[in-house]
Amino acid sequence: MKIKRLFSSIVSRPRHPALPETETTRDGVGVSPGIVIGQAYVYDTTLENVPRYHLKDEQISPEIRRFTDTVGQTVNEINAVTDRAKNVLESDPLTSLLDVYRHILKGSRLMRGVVRRIEKDRINAEAAVLDEIAALSDVFSAMEDPYISARIEDIRNIGQRLLRNLQTNISDNLDQLPDNAIVIAQNLSATDTAMLSMRKIAALITVNGSAQSHTSLLARSLGIPSVVGAADIMKIASTGDLIALDGTYGKIIVHPTPETIELYRKYRTDFLRWKRSLKRLRDQPSSTTDGVYIRLKGNIDLPEEVPFLLQTGGDGIGLMRSEYLYMNRDTLPAVDDITAILNKIVDQMPDKPIMFRTVDIGADKCLPDFSNYKAPNPALGLRGIRFAHQNETVLADQFEAVLQVCSRADIRILLPMISSVTEILNTKALLNKVADKLRAEGKPVPDKLPPVGAMIEVPSAALEADLLAANCDFLSIGTNDLIQYTVAVDRTDAMVTKLFNPLNPAVLKLIKMTIDAANAHNIPVSVCGEIAANYHYAALLIGLGVRELSMPAVNIPMVKERIRSISLYDAERFANHILTLHYPDDITSAFNAFEEGKRF
Ligand code: PEP
Ligand code: MG
Repeated sequence: MKIKRLFSSIVSRPRHPALPETETTRDGVGVSPGIVIGQAYVYDTTLENVPRYHLKDEQISPEIRRFTDTVGQTVNEINAVTDRAKNVLESDPLTSLLDVYRHILKGSRLMRGVVRRIEKDRINAEAAVLDEIAALSDVFSAMEDPYISARIEDIRNIGQRLLRNLQTNISDNLDQLPDNAIVIAQNLSATDTAMLSMRKIAALITVNGSAQSHTSLLARSLGIPSVVGAADIMKIASTGDLIALDGTYGKIIVHPTPETIELYRKYRTDFLRWKRSLKRLRDQPSSTTDGVYIRLKGNIDLPEEVPFLLQTGGDGIGLMRSEYLYMNRDTLPAVDDITAILNKIVDQMPDKPIMFRTVDIGADKCLPDFSNYKAPNPALGLRGIRFAHQNETVLADQFEAVLQVCSRADIRILLPMISSVTEILNTKALLNKVADKLRAEGKPVPDKLPPVGAMIEVPSAALEADLLAANCDFLSIGTNDLIQYTVAVDRTDAMVTKLFNPLNPAVLKLIKMTIDAANAHNIPVSVCGEIAANYHYAALLIGLGVRELSMPAVNIPMVKERIRSISLYDAERFANHILTLHYPDDITSAFNAFEEGKRF
């Protein structure tokens, strides 16, 4: 009861009253919750005047050596941050991230590309790093999927660090940080964030960045309140300015009045009390007040994310996006590469289910080196399972890897962008073919092959959910795409973002149809799109019949808290009421009323 009250005080407190003109307010994207009143410190990470010059023949080998030495120095720096983090912080998410950075620094496409440019273009290492990052960014510019772009941001961050190390005159001056510093930067790498976190830093504001970037993820897991996307903050705030910041709502107030300061102090007290209550919940079951257990699983891209997922008490991996395996490289990963990644995950969580999603290439996640195909309308083109069937070795290799690991783990195969049952049948036929091939080679393959399920993210799949459920072992609702395709709103287009509404009645009907079909066939159904990560939607989804939600690990505690504060009885009545409403505004009003405590 107490937790519920505290939770409500955060969720339903008035947004922000009108503020006097002496203050300057800015709205960014709140990516790590928390309230801070502190002093601005403008941290300039821009690398101006990167030198560019041509090399003579005899300069090429020394330049490559200078570059590889710098890579070594950068790895050492990352190792040092890791060691310091081990002593200072509860840092599993941080060390996982630093592992990703080490991985990028070891023979990745970025590294190979830089060496190639030094050799072929005969340019200095700094220019080669800049050019290679620009080339990679161009290739990826069509991809606005937040998860993919977060990985690209990692590559850029490493590039920046390399540039800084190549230019030895640039030094970090973090020792100058004032107490209670709110660090403002154009962009911060996750390593910068890690280093800053060792100092007296109270909050972060960046001009660039996305909620899904590793920097934001790290800020969240280190509990540093943060706002990204504050477009002109570098112009309106200077080092030493007093700032009040709300990392939940993305609010920044430069030169707050005494009244605002008092208000923010109160917000801060409420927030800290709420946060303490969340920590205590980590080992509690995610059950409703009337005892119904809701499985909470993690969405991951990399094995390095597993320790953090385990730390939050997740029940397994509900969505392993496998696209990352195909990025930042010139050639297809070998079966052994995929097997190694899967083994790395299984070693860390041998007893928990892993939902391996076959590669979802295409549309917002197109990849550079695979095809020259230019879709006239990429979201409706060759993506997900369609791409996989046209490039069958990609899918066959993924199956071969899964089959080699499945005898020692609970691995399930999830198929993206299914739009008809034929795709399921064809995919299962391919899985059987690969299993037969492995058996013929004398490799051990269990008689019972891993369960196969469909992502429901296209209206035709939801409308045919009954038939799909009859042919699948489970279903998983990908609301990011299901909303996009149902209301014809590009999920990456900011101009129409207001129409990207999970509460659109057509979307809710399709979700409900899918859940009912799964229940009728007695197979599990989960939700793994972003609405599963948003605790505001937990009651509605549970009320509609979902018993499993999969989300980025950082969101698990908050969703769990929400689940523990509601009863299935109330959630079902609420969901049934919502389903009787036709007008989006009525649905939104009822939704907000439930959030504020009304019961139906
Ligand atoms: C979805 O579409 O909701 C989903 C989980 O898949 P992705 O975001 O990877 O397209
Ligand atoms: Mg999707």
